[in-house]
Amino acid sequence: MKKTTIFTVLIAIMIGLLQLYLPNKYSYLYGNDTGGSRLMNVLRLGKGILDFWKESRRYIAEQVPDTTPEFGDTFDFIVIGAGTAGATIAARLSEISQIKVLLIEDGPHESLYMDVPLIAGILQTTNINRKHQTKPSDKYCLGMEGNSCVFPTGKVVGGSSVLNYMIASRGGAEDYDRWAEMGNKGWAYQDVLKYFKKLETMEIPELKSDNDYHGTNGPVHIAYPP
Ligand SMILES: Cc1cc2nc3c(=O)[nH]c(=O)nc-3n(C[C@H](O)[C@H](O)[C@H](O)COP(=O)(O)OP(=O)(O)OC[C@H]3O[C@@H](n4cnc5c(N)ncnc54)[C@H](O)[C@@H]3O)c2cc1C
Repeated sequence: MKKTTIFTVLIAIMIGLLQLYLPNKYSYLYGNDTGGSRLMNVLRLGKGILDFWKESRRYIAEQVPDTTPEFGDTFDFIVIGAGTAGATIAARLSEISQIKVLLIEDGPHESLYMDVPLIAGILQTTNINRKHQTKPSDKYCLGMEGNSCVFPTGKVVGGSSVLNYMIASRGGAEDYDRWAEMGNKGWAYQDVLKYFKKLETMEIPELKSDNDYHGTNGPVHIAYPP
């Protein structure tokens, strides 16, 4: 059995066990339908595992296949790294039909189980994390063993966004303004704000109507955790 399948089954079992033993506390994960006998719950767990496994097979089958370029192939753009930035740039460039784009990624394809937010921490122990370690220093990581911090980054299609905690945070306005002051035209916060707005659909009720700072029609949906 492939590693991915084993992992998928383990995650499904974990979700099922939550359903069996913590029905009230975690009901927001799977709804309130926790009635029925224990046997029924076990059967539902089995069905859940099967559905998740089938869904992950379908997901993998739908991935864009790896295509190694032939010798002599030419491209208008070569994007190195299919992380947060690279995948977005390649996707946007690909919207122009006359343009040929090559996207190169060092890591494997993403699997469905990697989308489960609960396991973000576990993913850091796998081969999709580059597992960098900072150099020992007397200026930072002073509370860590050997004054060195673990510095995770993604090595997978999706990059570090596959490992991250999905907290929506923008860079600080002062940083953008300072970059502009240093001579980088177009990088002031007011310049980049339109792109932050363009990419988001704000679903937090109190912020939805704040059209000066938030977008309502972008691909990234921002909401409170369920
Ligand atoms: C553990 C963790 C938690 C985080 N939590 C949050 C959060 O909650 N909210 C938030 O907004 N941000 C969070 N971040 C930060 C955010 O995920 C990153 O800032 C963002 O994903 C970086 O995007 P990137 O495109 O610059 O790099 P990456 O997404 O890291 O992409 C770089 C890609 O390039 C590939 N690559 C590198 N070298 C090569 C090469 N030579 N050839 C081919 N491919 C190569 C890598 O494999 C990788 O896939 C978190 C990051 C980590 C690691």
